[in-house]
Amino acid sequence: MTDLPTPEAPKLPKALQPSILAGLPEYLKDPNVYDKVQKAIVSSIQSSCTHSDPSEWMSCRKCGEKMAERRALLKRLGFKSPAQYMQWKKVHEMMRTELRDPLIKKS
Ligand SMILES: [Zn+2]
Repeated sequence: MTDLPTPEAPKLPKALQPSILAGLPEYLKDPNVYDKVQKAIVSSIQSSCTHSDPSEWMSCRKCGEKMAERRALLKRLGFKSPAQYMQWKKVHEMMRTELRDPLIKKS
């Protein structure tokens, strides 16, 4: 009876713990809203500018406004931070890849 694993304390790697996603609105966890939300965010950052130099981009007023707009949009959608948004995106893309290609799971 001593070799039985204890039911508690599953040892998950730290990276798998969704701490950054804590507090995410329930609706954002639905894979069906992913496309819609992504589209809204992507279209919010599209601008007519093309800056090859990052410093040029940093000092561009138009792009600065776009960034502020995007941040406000993320907030409106329910994201707590850009980092949370990035993590959300990663998780959804991962789920999607696994659903589309079941072979990935087996390899
Ligand atoms: Zn610009």
